[in-house]
Amino acid sequence: KRSGKNCWRIYRPDLDESAQVLSQLAWNDKIQAALNEDRLVLHFQGVHVASTRQISHYEALVRMVDPDNPGSLLLPSSFIPAAERTGRIVDIDRWVIRAAISKLAGMPGLPGLAVNVSARSFDDPTLAGKIRALLGEFGVEPRRLIIELTETAALANIGDSERFIDDLRKLGCTVCLDDFGVGFSSFAYLKHLSADVLKIDGMFIRNLLGNREDYVFVRAIVEVARGLGKKTVAEFVGDEQTLALLAEIGVDYAQGYHLSFPIAEISAP
Ligand code: C2E
Ligand code: MG
Ligand code: MG
Ligand code: MG
Repeated sequence: KRSGKNCWRIYRPDLDESAQVLSQLAWNDKIQAALNEDRLVLHFQGVHVASTRQISHYEALVRMVDPDNPGSLLLPSSFIPAAERTGRIVDIDRWVIRAAISKLAGMPGLPGLAVNVSARSFDDPTLAGKIRALLGEFGVEPRRLIIELTETAALANIGDSERFIDDLRKLGCTVCLDDFGVGFSSFAYLKHLSADVLKIDGMFIRNLLGNREDYVFVRAIVEVARGLGKKTVAEFVGDEQTLALLAEIGVDYAQGYHLSFPIAEISAP
C-alpha cells in the first residue's frame, strides 16, 4: 500500500526473518544501553497468604525505562523474548539478582523476595556460586531469596535445572517452579526437581470458578504438593470468589491483580 496503488509485491518469508534479526540486534543494543545507563527497574508484586490475604513476601518483576519516552516503562513481554534469543537475558538476570539481594539487605523486615531466572542463565554452572557470593557480600540470609524458574524451562533443560536447583537448595535459597502445570507430564519430573514451592499457572486459575477441569487439576496439584512437602502459590487471582475457593482447596499463597498490582516502592509487610 505504501508503494501506491496499482502495484503488487511478492511476499518473501525471509523478509520477515531478516526483519526479526534486525530487531534482535536492535534489542541487543537497547538492552546493553539500558544496563550501561542504569535504566532497568524492579517492580514488586505481593504474594499473599491465601487464607488471610496478608502479604507474605514479594516477587520482583523487571521493567525498562523507555529511552524514547523516559516517562514510560517497557514490560518484560517487549524485551525478555528478544533477550532470551540473543543471550542478553543472562545480563538482565544478573542485574535483577543483585538488585533483589541489595533490596533484601536494605529491608531486613522483608521476609522474602522472589526473582525470575531464565534457562539461559541457569545453564551456567557458576550461577549458584555467584548468588552465594552476593548473599555473603550483602549479608542476606539465603532462604529470603526465592528463585523462580518456569517449569517449561526446567523440563527443557532437565540436567541443568536439576543441578541448579540442588545447588540453590544446598545454599539455602528457596526454589519455586513458576507457571507450573502447563505440561501435565510435569508430575513425573517432580521426583527429580526438588523445588520448595509450586506456582500454579494462571491458565488454571483464570476460569477456576466456571471450569471443572481446572478445578480438578488445581486440587490434584495441591494434593501432590502437600504429599511432597511443598507449598503452592496461585497466580492471576482475579476476584474474591476465586480467592475463597483457592483457600478452601488449600492453596497456600495467592498472587494477582485482585490482591495487588506490581508497584515501584514497597515497605516490609
Ligand atoms: P511471571 O513470572 O509468571 O510473572 C507474572 C506476570 O503476570 C507479571 O507480568 C505480572 O505483572 C502479571 N500478573 C500478575 N497478576 C496478574 C493478574 O491477576 N492478571 C494478569 N493478567 N497478569 C498478572 P510481567 O511483569 O509483565 O512479567 C511477565 C513475565 O516476564 C514473568 O512472568 C516472567 O516470566 C518474566 N520476567 C519478569 N521479570 C523477569 C526477570 O527479572 N528475569 C526473567 N528472566 N524473566 C522475568
Ligand atoms: Mg514469576
Ligand atoms: Mg508465573
Ligand atoms: Mg505466568
